[in-house]
Amino acid sequence: MIRFERVTKRYPDGTTAVDDLSFEVAAGELVTLVGPSGCGKTTTMKMVNRLVEPTEGRIFLDGDDISTIDPVQLRRRIGYVIQQVGLFPHKTVLENTATVPRLLGWKRSRGRERAAELLDLVGLDPGVYGGRYPEQLSGGQRQRVGVARALAADPPVLLMDEPFGAVDPVVRERLQSEFLRLQASVRKTVLFVTHDLEEAVRLGDRIAVYGHGRIEQFGAPAAVLGAP
Ligand code: ADP
Ligand code: ADP
Repeated sequence: MIRFERVTKRYPDGTTAVDDLSFEVAAGELVTLVGPSGCGKTTTMKMVNRLVEPTEGRIFLDGDDISTIDPVQLRRRIGYVIQQVGLFPHKTVLENTATVPRLLGWKRSRGRERAAELLDLVGLDPGVYGGRYPEQLSGGQRQRVGVARALAADPPVLLMDEPFGAVDPVVRERLQSEFLRLQASVRKTVLFVTHDLEEAVRLGDRIAVYGHGRIEQFGAPAAVLGAP
């Protein structure tokens, strides 16, 4: 579903963030990218939705070279959730969640219906929270809205960059369990960045352990933990 073929990213200042990386993520698989800060996880992720262009190599999405997919199509095919989801402060939770459908030109009513469904799916009662504004939510609730928004156009691929990194440990654990339950039903192809090994192990079907722009180990949690 997602395939990296000898991908290198050098930033203009000469930093090699990703170094000759090749790997594959199967459809419906959740792969966690784990490793210390600065080892290239976010760069890897951003190349998938073309926020960053590779210097060398190619990335395929379901067989299509992503450099040939137009940006609107790419948006439809990939949902993106970051650590501090940027919700529009002057829009309600429901309107925020319906952003992508609106961008894709869906009818307003259909977008709102879809948004309500999704809020339900991430554990926020749309009747209670749909009309609230982001500042009226807790951090954990805002991240849930971010997940709902990313799922709005029903993309096959979900990119998550430390989505639960900014909430306290108790909330994080709850978000993790909820996300596992959600993933069991929606089965997205997920790349999930974290610097927390425990989170990587808990969520990942497979784990890619990063070090200096390369994947040093890649496998099921048990295999990676058991490695010498
Ligand atoms: P991680 O997500 O693992 O923390 P990043 O992909 O953000 O790692 O960064 C990898 C390396 O690339 C780091 O050395 C970082 O400083 C560098 N880097 C990231 N973004 C840029 C940029 N826009 N310009 C120059 N260097 C960058
Ligand atoms: P969570 O466990 O999701 O982090 P919190 O314990 O932080 O939730 O918040 C508990 C409740 O307080 C939530 O129902 C949330 O909607 C509400 N809340 C948090 N911040 C605000 C706020 N600024 N205005 C109104 N309600 C808020």
